[in-house]
Amino acid sequence: MHQIIYRDPNVTIFQSALFQTNSTVVCTDDVVMVFDPAWLPEEVENIRQYVEQIRGNKHVFLIFTHSDFDHIIGYRAFRADKVFMSKAMDEHPDKAGAVEKCLEFDEQYYIKRSYPIEYPKGDFLVFRDGVQYRYGNTKMSFYLTPGHTADSMMVIVWQLGLCIAGDYLCECEFPFIYHSSVDYEQTLEKLPRIHDRNWFTRLIPGHGQPALSISDWLQRRTEAQAYLFALRESIATNVPFDETSLWTRYKFPRLQRKYHMENIALMTREYQQGLWQWDPDFMLSASELQESYITDSPTNDADDEG
Ligand SMILES: [Zn+2]
Repeated sequence: MHQIIYRDPNVTIFQSALFQTNSTVVCTDDVVMVFDPAWLPEEVENIRQYVEQIRGNKHVFLIFTHSDFDHIIGYRAFRADKVFMSKAMDEHPDKAGAVEKCLEFDEQYYIKRSYPIEYPKGDFLVFRDGVQYRYGNTKMSFYLTPGHTADSMMVIVWQLGLCIAGDYLCECEFPFIYHSSVDYEQTLEKLPRIHDRNWFTRLIPGHGQPALSISDWLQRRTEAQAYLFALRESIATNVPFDETSLWTRYKFPRLQRKYHMENIALMTREYQQGLWQWDPDFMLSASELQESYITDSPTNDADDEG
């Protein structure tokens, strides 16, 4: 059974017993937003009942940060007025495969659901950075954040200073790179710029505890960058990666070692293809990165509305 790990008058984070997966429900004066509802049937049902309780006459928006099966498995449990996702997620090359993973999971554990498993159908498709959607006084902006998957996106809810980040900056996971380490690095680079245009303080990742201050998510970003650069150095110079310190920081080595090895395999292929180079003079300076980017008020946002 999930627990509610965070609650304020507008934001409730339900955390699954599985993989500390977060499902966030945001309620404003205008709308109820449900992000990535997961995972076990009772957990999804609890979120559904909560949404039904609070929705009243409000519209319900269902928003997917990416197409990993744990994030889409709850789709059809909800009566949504609008479904948001990236255009890349809508154009997923193997939707049947994503559904199959959900079905495999359920059958593996003899799980029955009261709703059908389907690949989400998007109504609002995010095709570029900075696209905005306004509904009453509620304003969201969307950013494409490939790297973890090709179809990842982040969402900022303006008046709440809230970023829903998908599977980035999880305090319980180093970067899981299924798609591209080059894109992953650019997504991490982009975060302070997203911040400066939208000014969020709180960041909710797909798994684990939310980051409730700017310094908290910046620290996580520095750790993710440090992991990427250490892996690159190890691959380019053949110096073994320091796994001991990785498992001092991250607490689930029996599972996560697999993801670490897959990162090495993917980044080795990228290196052989010349997709990145190792620069031995490059030094990651956390304080410099933080001070040079972050401003304390939002800059003018000239983007169009989507
Ligand atoms: Zn996930």
